[in-house]
Amino acid sequence: MNPNLVSIVPCESYEADACEASLRAVLAPLGGLDWVRPGMRIGIKANLVAGAKPEKAVTTHPSLLAALTRLLKERGASVVIGDSPGNLYNAAILNRVYAVSGLCEAEKAGAELNRDFSEKDGFFPDAVQAKRFTYTGWLDGCDAIINFCKLKSHGMMSLSAAAKNLFGTIPGTMKPEYHYRFPDPNDFADMIVDLDEYFKPVLNLCDAITAMQGNGPTQGTPKHVGALLASKNPHCLDVLAATLIGLAPNEVPTLAAAMRRSLCPDTVEGLTVSGDWKAFLQTDFEVIRNRNSLLFVGGDHFCAKALRRIMNACLASKPKVKTSACIGCGKCRDICPAHTIAIKNKKAVIDRKHCIKCFCCQEFCPVGAMRVHRSPVAVVLTHGKEGSK
Ligand code: SF4
Ligand code: SF4
Repeated sequence: MNPNLVSIVPCESYEADACEASLRAVLAPLGGLDWVRPGMRIGIKANLVAGAKPEKAVTTHPSLLAALTRLLKERGASVVIGDSPGNLYNAAILNRVYAVSGLCEAEKAGAELNRDFSEKDGFFPDAVQAKRFTYTGWLDGCDAIINFCKLKSHGMMSLSAAAKNLFGTIPGTMKPEYHYRFPDPNDFADMIVDLDEYFKPVLNLCDAITAMQGNGPTQGTPKHVGALLASKNPHCLDVLAATLIGLAPNEVPTLAAAMRRSLCPDTVEGLTVSGDWKAFLQTDFEVIRNRNSLLFVGGDHFCAKALRRIMNACLASKPKVKTSACIGCGKCRDICPAHTIAIKNKKAVIDRKHCIKCFCCQEFCPVGAMRVHRSPVAVVLTHGKEGSK
């Protein structure tokens, strides 16, 4: 099979029959689920970054997870669905996330919702960044992993789709530590591509029926795209996903990292796409552009490193508190890996000197008060194309 094959089909709603028919259609060019054998235990790595109602477009929609569960059970497999949200990784938090995100629908279809909260040590000598890491142990009990992501804009990585979804293999409260270990977005992206390579999902699916634009990945606004994507290769899927929402693939750090390793082509023209992808092109999708949008200087030479530091200082987006919206809850302070946020007069205040621009605060602010603020230089260089403010 062509390794660069990506399949895309229309799906207009989350109605159960529509989801099942579209899943069958999107999988057909990839050989369907013929690789699934009776008795296999399939792990579906969903995007459950936070407990949010399905219509908020934060999480993989439960109707799609239920439909995929039915298809897998048809083939005699058992199914477990899991993820590690950006919070404590325990039963109390996960049960709430499952309930709010509507996962009971998938449970009714026969899926088990993961309740194994063990943590394992990973060793990956071929990794570029993550040679040693800690991951969620439930994945070890699976014969194969299906990566079922949601199409969203993202404060740090611009795109949250297939590759980024594997960051959810890191247990919840350890995620900020990984941001701190890899403060450069390109190193962070390499770490994520390492996780993709380590776990190697057999199949990658993307819920782009209702995507999230703007202040993603948790506080943006839903945007109807009406598509379902599938590929054996997460980076090829992301090349198409990025293109659909108006990002050049090399604007996405995880894709730039994958291209440096020759894991995917650098443009949509290098893919073999099954389906009329141009019918889903978004002309007004609100994305968050990061400094990779402007210029990437790779390499380990000290000149390249110095140039990257200068560019970072001039071009990097920064978190900014919308004071009128801040409720002083302190979640950003608690999750900040650099411990650089304080609550003063019931408002979040950032000590910029120590901020590593990981955007954990933006991702987990419950009311969207923490925003991505683009540098004036970056705005001028992109001819005024703004991210979220
Ligand atoms: S998480 Fe959001 S609302 Fe809470 S203190 Fe931080 S900025 Fe304010
Ligand atoms: S202030 Fe926000 S972006 Fe800066 S280090 Fe803390 S969590 Fe990351």
